[in-house]
Amino acid sequence: MQMYEVINKKKQGKELTTAEIYAIVNGYTVGEIPDYQMSALLMAICLKGMTTQETTDLTMAMADSGDVLDLSDFKDKTIDKHSTGGVGDKTTLIVAPIIAAIGLPVAKMSGRGLGHTGGTIDKLESIPGFRIDFSSVEFLNIVKKYGLCIAGQSGNLVPADKKIYALRDVTATVDSIPLIAASIMSKKIAAGAQHILLDVKTGNGAFMKDLQSACSLAEAMVDIGKGCGKKTAALITDMSAPLGRAIGNSLEVKEVIQVLSCYESSPRDLVEVSIALAASMLYMTDYGDLTTCQSKVEEVLKNGAAFAKFKKMVEVQGGDSSYIENPDKFETAKYTKHVKSIHSGYVSSMDTEGLGIAAMMLGAGRHKPEDDICYSAGIVLELERDSYTDAGQVMATLYTNDESTIADAESKLLASIKFTQEAPSKIPLIHERIGF
Ligand code: URA
Repeated sequence: MQMYEVINKKKQGKELTTAEIYAIVNGYTVGEIPDYQMSALLMAICLKGMTTQETTDLTMAMADSGDVLDLSDFKDKTIDKHSTGGVGDKTTLIVAPIIAAIGLPVAKMSGRGLGHTGGTIDKLESIPGFRIDFSSVEFLNIVKKYGLCIAGQSGNLVPADKKIYALRDVTATVDSIPLIAASIMSKKIAAGAQHILLDVKTGNGAFMKDLQSACSLAEAMVDIGKGCGKKTAALITDMSAPLGRAIGNSLEVKEVIQVLSCYESSPRDLVEVSIALAASMLYMTDYGDLTTCQSKVEEVLKNGAAFAKFKKMVEVQGGDSSYIENPDKFETAKYTKHVKSIHSGYVSSMDTEGLGIAAMMLGAGRHKPEDDICYSAGIVLELERDSYTDAGQVMATLYTNDESTIADAESKLLASIKFTQEAPSKIPLIHERIGF
């Protein structure tokens, strides 16, 4: 294969063959294709797009570039979930123990947070002692024995994506639906599950800001999943406000414990999205119609089985489960600040990304992948979209170990929440269901 010819072919909008796509991915991963040629090809893909067949080939070639987890011991009942990321999105920590408590094995690999969005692994590591680094044999043994393990991505999972993503990041080629879809789906395919539920977020805190682009990404990923022989579906869920009240790692774990121990009195948006995701996962694995699946989910929340699974997972993965029994044990950040509302009125909109950035300023998130984070830093909101607030009422509490960050984070938070005198119309939490 001549890389020059392939770049030229894509520049003219022609379809690349399976063999060409495999040769490109393999050649680039081992260093035979230089960055300048790969950059040119990525830009041509951005401008001319890819067919479903090309995108599926790209996904499979990337998934095959490293380790692929073998979950065949679990028969065909394995299910994975992926969220495109948001602010306060702690649903994996609620959904995974629910699913495991119902009896489906959960072998989940998750990532760290970057920028305004959080990561499941960081949240879990805020529990003292919690381990995320297992060999694949250890990882699978834990799932076999206890039904649930959430670990970090193994070092050699989809090396092609690591290299290609780093190049996209510096060549303005991130925002291409086929490239995003192949990048996400290659990691899901390599993680081995037979069923994949995608939670594609839309709104001002999401990667995909508008509903149409979120649906296009979801459709592309569902097509790839099906093309790779996986049962795949997507929910488009709302990210025009943070999910739940807590933003920041241990603050979010405490909110997860609240939902798992008493969901009826927990933040409604977080509960509704978590139940919808868990019920959809059951539905995909043939547990009955959606109403039946939802009842099963609520049953394991009510009878404490999901909470018990979560506690067991923490114990098995080396964490101190006394923190789960008694969340007050989590260290509180050195400095707290109550932020009071200057306005009276209904919350009409939230700049969700702005709130994620405010939490990052306080120490809860990273600017660069190598940055340290502070597990106890972040924000707990005392209001939600549509709620009424009087001037002088506390609207949020800021937590940080670095006092010098408070003033800027407070200004960012105040600028991120808008009020109106009339009750705003409700925004649905689940916008679309795709591929069911
Ligand atoms: N997330 C990914 O994993 N890949 C992308 O390309 C974009 C978001």
